[in-house]
Amino acid sequence: MRPLKTRLLSLCLALSLTGAAEAAKIYALKYGESTYKASLVNTLAKSRLVRLNWLFYVIETGTPAQYTLIDTGFSAAEQRRRFGLTRYNAAESLLQSIGLKPEMISRVILTHTHFDHAGNLALFPRARITLHAAEYEALSDRRTAAFLAAAKSQGLLDIITASRSQLGDFEIIHTGGHTPGSIAIQWRAPKNTFVFTGDECYFAAACRAGIPLPKASAFSVARNTEFIRALNPQHVLLTGHETEPLGGKWINDNVYLIEAD
Ligand SMILES: [Zn+2]
Repeated sequence: MRPLKTRLLSLCLALSLTGAAEAAKIYALKYGESTYKASLVNTLAKSRLVRLNWLFYVIETGTPAQYTLIDTGFSAAEQRRRFGLTRYNAAESLLQSIGLKPEMISRVILTHTHFDHAGNLALFPRARITLHAAEYEALSDRRTAAFLAAAKSQGLLDIITASRSQLGDFEIIHTGGHTPGSIAIQWRAPKNTFVFTGDECYFAAACRAGIPLPKASAFSVARNTEFIRALNPQHVLLTGHETEPLGGKWINDNVYLIEAD
């Protein structure tokens, strides 16, 4: 029999490996705040202006840990001014605050390609990028189009054509309510199923109340309404601009952590 010390060491190692294998975490990274016209979002608020958080998400899964980004945020100073962003934090420093570097991100899934969701793509030149074909075909931003064309030529682009498809652990659902190729990402974690809604929902509470996007911020109100009506009440909704995220806790001023296992 091996000495007790060696046996204890193996046991600790086995336990720590088991723990790591089950690790499933979601980090909501908040890179800014602003107010915004209530008439441009789905909200329960009756005021003329609402407060928005500007978020993107990191999902940590598996052993060794894999890091998937849902959207990228943006950094362009001109757009920060235009949208009145305060408490701005660069994506690199937010990632650093949870021990990550951009090159550790292996996949970026874009809910859609608006500047605030795809603006930081260039930080992740080695990541696989996933988006829907209808979004790829409707690209208008020249920088995003150039980046995605380069990713495509390097074989790093996964263009989804189906209305529902499986991508590793994630189910990609073509919603098409906010933009032609907007998608939601459904992730079944051990304890809960999470739905990353992008801007199909600005606030989970409004979607739960069945409030669709206003016409001014929808590609198709009908498709947005169809998506909202089909939401499972048990699923946790994580939106692109949420101010009241659920199921976790703020671990610093800018990072909301959900332990998903
Ligand atoms: Zn947005």
